[in-house]
Amino acid sequence: MYQKLKGTYDVLPHESDFFRWIGNEIDHVARLYGYKEIQFPIIEYANLFQRGVGESSDIVVKKEMYVFEDRGNRLVALRPEGTAGAVRLYIENTLHMYGYTQRLFYAGPMFRAENPQAGRYRQFTQFGFELIGDASPEADVELILINHELVKRLGITDVTLYINSIGCRECRPAYQQKLTAYLGEHKQELCEDCQTRLSLNPLRVLDCKKTSCQAVVRQAPLQYQHLCEPCSTHFETVKNSLSSLEVTFLIDPYLVRGLDYYNRTVFEFKSASLGAQSTFSAGGRYDYLVRDLGGMDTPASGFAMGMERLAMVVEASTGKKRTQYYHPPFVYVAGVGENLSLAVWQALRLLREEGFSATTEFRYTQLKKHLKAADRLGAPYALLLGEDEIQKGKWTLRNLQTGEQFQEIPAEIVAFLRAKK
Ligand code: ATP
Ligand code: MG
Repeated sequence: MYQKLKGTYDVLPHESDFFRWIGNEIDHVARLYGYKEIQFPIIEYANLFQRGVGESSDIVVKKEMYVFEDRGNRLVALRPEGTAGAVRLYIENTLHMYGYTQRLFYAGPMFRAENPQAGRYRQFTQFGFELIGDASPEADVELILINHELVKRLGITDVTLYINSIGCRECRPAYQQKLTAYLGEHKQELCEDCQTRLSLNPLRVLDCKKTSCQAVVRQAPLQYQHLCEPCSTHFETVKNSLSSLEVTFLIDPYLVRGLDYYNRTVFEFKSASLGAQSTFSAGGRYDYLVRDLGGMDTPASGFAMGMERLAMVVEASTGKKRTQYYHPPFVYVAGVGENLSLAVWQALRLLREEGFSATTEFRYTQLKKHLKAADRLGAPYALLLGEDEIQKGKWTLRNLQTGEQFQEIPAEIVAFLRAKK
């Protein structure tokens, strides 16, 4: 028997409405905020990501990327995240010509060869929002507000927003020097990963989850105490705007994010109900990425949310299981007797033309079997078609919850169902 690859998962028919609902809410919020959907390939040249997410990111350092040579000897990769592809699309299609500010939104599968755990997969789904062409702190605030809106619409309660500023290319080097010197003195106390990070990107040591590293980090100099004037003003404005909009947040001076392209504002939404993988949405400003990938100097900010973790938080917060979002077909059509396929087809067509979800089991001719099938599907109504109905030109509609039924001409039944929908 074939089995799915480790770290992948199947969405079953009774769960898919749950994911569809979350997706619809996200689409709706994207529209409310004026973000336009973009679609870009799942597969790209590997160097786009290498360059995009950065040499010291987890994705590159921990070799999380699925990279291979295609048949034309091109080094390609399955996308590990969306921002690099979105920025490649922005540059290649000269989107700035359509308007300097671009509000973009994407959704789709991402791939990372990591150790699967609860909320950590090798294929997972991300929703991402990118605001390209706006350097203002208000752009960062807008992206945080989008998260806030989604959290509210999905009924999530136990959420904490953490923010930080990781400075810019002006103020970071001096701070980094200080940090490197400090961490260098404690090198032996750091984990193996962090010893590598020390030379590649010492900032990443700050968010190491290992206890030994955290003990060192607690005494380390912090970026937010070493911001240059513009970075400091930017961060203050973000905080003030959030406060005046009544968005509660905590400052986490150790928050640095796992991708290299960030600068200034970074943020994460966490939920206690997720355990170890507590972050379900994360993002920040990436003012250098467009330039680094070959475009013009263009400020940008964005975030990505993981669908699977979001789904776990929704279930935990609402106490409602994913299967409870299942929408059954509205009407089950039961052909009771032989040679009724034409009548069944006609009824199905009429119901569907009216916009009702309608189905049948072609293989059954007995009422009992049909009712069992309708019950399995969870349909609230069954339309019974037998000799009697054909002769009278009427349908029998049965309420499957109460067992009540009545006979009427199709137009009346349709009117009745319309009122019930
Ligand atoms: P983590 O610290 O959990 O590894 P990350 O910093 O690698 O996350 P990002 O690349 O910023 O995460 O991705 C943003 C979001 O995408 C995460 O908050 C999470 O919801 C989701 N995500 C990232 N990696 C995975 C994965 N392997 N499986 C499921 N969801 C993921
Ligand atoms: Mg990761």
